[in-house]
Amino acid sequence: MSGTTATDVVVVGAGTAGCYAAATVAAAGASVVVLERKSAEDAGHIACGDALKGADKFPDAIPKPQIADAFTNTDVDHGRFEIPKEDTVLEIPVPGELAVIDRDAFGRLLIEGAERAGARFAYDTVVQSVIQDESGRTTGVQATQGGAPHTFSAEVVIDAAGAMSILQDTADFGDSQFDTNVTFRHFCSAYREIIEVPDPVEWSDALVFKPTERAAGYLWYFPRTETTINAGLGFQMTEEPMTLVDDLRRDLQTRGEFAGGQVIDKLGAALPTRRPYDSAVAAGYIAAGDAAGHVNPTTGGGIAGAAYAGQYAGEQAVEALDAGDVSEEMLWPYNQRVMDHFGARYAGLDVYNILATAVDVDDLMGLLASLPGEKLAEALYSGTTSFGPRLLVKTAVDSFGYWRQILGFYRTKRIADELLGQYDRYPATPGDLGAWQTDRDRLMDRLYALTGATPKY
Ligand SMILES: Cc1cc2nc3c(=O)[nH]c(=O)nc-3n(C[C@H](O)[C@H](O)[C@H](O)COP(=O)(O)OP(=O)(O)OC[C@H]3O[C@@H](n4cnc5c(N)ncnc54)[C@H](O)[C@@H]3O)c2cc1C
Repeated sequence: MSGTTATDVVVVGAGTAGCYAAATVAAAGASVVVLERKSAEDAGHIACGDALKGADKFPDAIPKPQIADAFTNTDVDHGRFEIPKEDTVLEIPVPGELAVIDRDAFGRLLIEGAERAGARFAYDTVVQSVIQDESGRTTGVQATQGGAPHTFSAEVVIDAAGAMSILQDTADFGDSQFDTNVTFRHFCSAYREIIEVPDPVEWSDALVFKPTERAAGYLWYFPRTETTINAGLGFQMTEEPMTLVDDLRRDLQTRGEFAGGQVIDKLGAALPTRRPYDSAVAAGYIAAGDAAGHVNPTTGGGIAGAAYAGQYAGEQAVEALDAGDVSEEMLWPYNQRVMDHFGARYAGLDVYNILATAVDVDDLMGLLASLPGEKLAEALYSGTTSFGPRLLVKTAVDSFGYWRQILGFYRTKRIADELLGQYDRYPATPGDLGAWQTDRDRLMDRLYALTGATPKY
């Protein structure tokens, strides 16, 4: 039987972004329902590497003590990069608080946190399409609930449906500036297993990374505890597809610490490895988290971005409700907040992703193996590193044969810095976005010309 539900805000997706958005809206006293396609038992069970960077700084819509129990390993303080072809292991310190979490418990605690704030959840509810009025304003979503059609109407729809959100396939964003320049090439396909091993691993204080043998992909081993390991791998969808399950199995068989291990959970999914959407708002509509590319494109870390974007989306929706105006202009400050907090940095890091598609993987690994760990850490985590004299001397000695690449990296970094400057000038109104994009795209053209990379956008 079909039905209709009306609320101030509809959130699609009970993941990180959706829970923070819903908690924020509910705490402000507005009515909000979260629609989740999974069952109540399965909601919050998300494919993830479970690594959390900046675990100390989390938005407050769901208070940290309410989720702290899911932080099962807070002793992690460095990355361990295994480069078998160079017979090298790089130990790279990671600044800021790192944690490996029990992602399933984390997901459930987020839902509890949003419920505690007053949000309602509707499970087994699959959103099929977006409902819009004649002006193009989003006024709700069409879903099936337990197989029956159900209409949810709202002043604002928050799209927190994750990577490749189906909502955006069905919405007509018309004359709005909502970013529709999105293709499968902007995503990574990834898979992970949770494995219990008989004895504690020696690297329980590290995030272990390793390039895959058969394609330009990467493997990870993240210790949820000393004996529960999240092991996974992924590849950019521009590359030759990998057989993820078999390739992981093959690597596990080479590692003695996994002998006698037991797989207790398996999941795979796509994740965005692109710059954040230029705009993630349209009249009555805000996208947050993976649904808007809010992921660090070099690490695939998206939990923190989803949490903050979810909270910002909730706050902007509440402001719009209070003002009785849900226009694109009214929702625009959300874009500015995202860019200001982490979007600009992620867009800068995307430059290195693009560079990586154009360089030989073996050369890259050889170069990495020749660099000092602390400088690499800066390069990886600050987003703007200086290739100072120490690094140059060290690389001159150790990386003879890679000088051409180093020069290329240096020039690429200069473009990344210019790009950061451009994102600092992110416009205050939708009307100014076109001119801003023209300037940004000029920088991107210079990047493609310098690196020889195929244009990504
Ligand atoms: C294998 C893998 C490893 C990763 N490792 C890490 C890591 O180590 N650290 C890190 O920070 N990030 C990692 N990420 C990324 C991180 O998981 C995501 O960035 C983050 O979960 C995004 O949160 P979200 O709320 O935007 O989306 P999601 O967590 O994907 O939530 C979206 C929700 O929407 C629901 N949904 C989707 N479509 C519909 C629909 N039509 N109707 C109703 N409900 C719908 C889904 O069921 C889901 O519950 C990884 C991702 C993958 C795939």
